[in-house]
Amino acid sequence: MDEVHRELLRRAQEAVAEATRAHRRAAELRAFVSALRAIRPGELVRCAWCDRVAAGEYWIDPYPLLGANALRERLRKSASHGVCPDCFERVMTASERQRAQRLPLP
Ligand SMILES: [Zn+2]
Repeated sequence: MDEVHRELLRRAQEAVAEATRAHRRAAELRAFVSALRAIRPGELVRCAWCDRVAAGEYWIDPYPLLGANALRERLRKSASHGVCPDCFERVMTASERQRAQRLPLP
């Protein structure tokens, strides 16, 4: 019975984690929809590093939503290039690490 209890607990915790992720994703999508409505089509920005797209301050991966390759290509060609906050942070951290390695030893 201990094993059943343990397994049931583990699976219930996984289900809660999955539901939490889905809830978070739904909130992100709602915010993105609002942001999309507030901008003009020419104001879409695509991250040059990770391909996510911004409407206002919200960045999402648009490709699961677009699906069709023709739309993907049109988005790639027509959206302005930018850098999302995650990639900016990653690039800056990598750049600072590189700079630190080049500094002469005291
Ligand atoms: Zn990015």
